[in-house]
Amino acid sequence: METIIVHASFHAGHRQPGYLGKCRFIHGHTWRGTVQVSTERFPRDAHEMSIDFGDLKDIMKRLDHRLLVTADDEMLRLPDVCEPEGIVVLPGRGPSVEAVADYVWSEVVAVIQRRFPECGLTYDIAVTIHETDHNTFVVERQAMV
Ligand SMILES: [Zn+2]
Repeated sequence: METIIVHASFHAGHRQPGYLGKCRFIHGHTWRGTVQVSTERFPRDAHEMSIDFGDLKDIMKRLDHRLLVTADDEMLRLPDVCEPEGIVVLPGRGPSVEAVADYVWSEVVAVIQRRFPECGLTYDIAVTIHETDHNTFVVERQAMV
């Protein structure tokens, strides 16, 4: 079994519209993330490299200095309210740490698909997102690419 692990951090804001607590107000975090990808043996390119560490870090770096929203937050998606290039629309009903982890997980699968398409390998992909020093969410799933 082989494993690739990358760490990245990013500053991003969000809010939970309708939530009965302080998280309904726009606020920010310095999020920290770890992506861990394992498979029996990674495919290699002509440089004997597998998945580029930078490609995995870039998934999280693309969230840096952005406002994380979901499609139903129509107010923050108005161009007169937030510059469109300053927001990232996450899937789901709220930009929770769970939604951030799901987003990163899906993007990891997309990176593997672009790098080594249709190899039919099973990858164990774990994404750990620390919203704060004390609040962490982990998603671990398999993907066949
Ligand atoms: Zn928060």
